[in-house]
Amino acid sequence: MGSSNASLSIVQELLSQVDIVDVVSHFVDLKRSGRNYVALCPFHSERTPSFVVSPEKQIFKCFGCGVGGNAITFVQKYENLSFWEAVKRVAEIARVELPKDFFKENEKFRSLEESGLRAAKFFNRKLSAIEEYLKSRGIEKAVADKFLLGYAPQGYLKELGIRREDAENLGLLGKGGREFFKNRLVIPIFSHSGSVVGFAGRALSENQQPKYINTPETEIFKKSSILYGFFQSKKEIIEKREVVIVEGYFDVISLHKIGVRNAVAPMGTSLTENHVRFIKRYSDSPLLMFDGDSAGKKATIRSAGLFFKEGCEPMVVQLPEGEDPDSLSRKNPEILRELLKNPKPYIEWAIEAVKSSNNDIELLRQVATSIYGLKFTNPFLFKEYFSKLSAEFGIDENWLKVQIPRKRENGEEKEPIPFRERAFLRAILEGWKIPVKVSPNVFLSREISKIYSLISQAEETNPAVIQSEYPELSPLISEILLYDFSEEELKEGVRKVLEKEFERRLRKINDFFEKMRLKKVILELKRGNFEAIEGLQTT
Ligand SMILES: [Zn+2]
Repeated sequence: MGSSNASLSIVQELLSQVDIVDVVSHFVDLKRSGRNYVALCPFHSERTPSFVVSPEKQIFKCFGCGVGGNAITFVQKYENLSFWEAVKRVAEIARVELPKDFFKENEKFRSLEESGLRAAKFFNRKLSAIEEYLKSRGIEKAVADKFLLGYAPQGYLKELGIRREDAENLGLLGKGGREFFKNRLVIPIFSHSGSVVGFAGRALSENQQPKYINTPETEIFKKSSILYGFFQSKKEIIEKREVVIVEGYFDVISLHKIGVRNAVAPMGTSLTENHVRFIKRYSDSPLLMFDGDSAGKKATIRSAGLFFKEGCEPMVVQLPEGEDPDSLSRKNPEILRELLKNPKPYIEWAIEAVKSSNNDIELLRQVATSIYGLKFTNPFLFKEYFSKLSAEFGIDENWLKVQIPRKRENGEEKEPIPFRERAFLRAILEGWKIPVKVSPNVFLSREISKIYSLISQAEETNPAVIQSEYPELSPLISEILLYDFSEEELKEGVRKVLEKEFERRLRKINDFFEKMRLKKVILELKRGNFEAIEGLQTT
């Protein structure tokens, strides 16, 4: 989302009308706890609640995994939506009217989505040009139409009937006006709610390189959250509470072809945590069915690890060596259906996978690593699986444990943020008037520095607005707002930050008298004497 004034005012207007407690409790069971509400965090697996919603501040924060934000960012994250979709959804849940500016701002995205659908339909009408190819892949018209598969003839830009800008944003047009998808089979990418947000193009012959090309990520097309086929499979996924995860577009399509209509695939990348959290809401034991080769094996182990971290145990379908769902659906759909009916629990599959690769110790290490996530989400099962593994391969449990690479929970290590900077920021957010412009360089924390700059430039002290505008700063803002600072701590924070600011100025000044004056102010501040700064008001 851009940082236009219009989008700011939309966020402000909407947030002023909704209550975050209403919005969050639409998805999560909240329990009152003092001034706040708490719940088990929907974004990570836990047994005791560390997810806090503050009705007073209109924010949420998880002290377990660190996510945080306002009502809009919550829905955006929970349902994997774009910003504009989330705004719409929040208004819907809270039953309030959408802000007037919404439609104007939303227009360009709507135009993009309309253009996407129009282009997809155009390519779909040209499909007869590659009839033979489709036949060779065993794809009938009905299935091709369901996924709006198409063909991009040379010179398509003129015939598409969409704005050039939209064609560029949809990735249909390369730099310098090159027709990116020329002479390729076109696969439209649908968002989870059914808009065409991007395209993939498959080569039609061996000498066309690369085999697949994709729309680059855009405002409406985020590869790490969209699952290919979800829109077409949604109905059956919800009915069955079962999801089949495969590797590629054609695996999804070929499964639909043989009547398995609950398949999804990541967008030409590996499965992300985002995908996994999303899938977990639709199924308690998702099915992994990756290619029958060593890469597929590794992907299965890696993906299972992500599910275990979320407290979810996947099942696995092992395909015959060298086959993928697409190839097998053509050769022997009956076997494929049969395999799908008899998936194995991951641990059983994994033990067999290691055995069938001559007890490859590296593979065993990967398997041990993959179940490590269970230690936090299901310690009993973790123990059980771990002893199973060591018994099965006659390996000492302790030795196996040492093989697991230790990572800090929640990824990379961050510099701790000085307490004075947190307190200073809180004072600002509380509306303290501090008549001294502090240089952003005074702050050790880059995040605090950024938030302070935003506030001092835009005179925008509504933290909820900053949270929508800069989602990456959102967790820290929530954390600072939810922390119980005492009046003394706030004063102390302000005093110390100002001290740093004056020391910075002191280093830059040559004038003797000015130097003396500054030194005096610093001394007064060190003594805790706030009057040294004229016009400072605490509220
Ligand atoms: Zn969490």
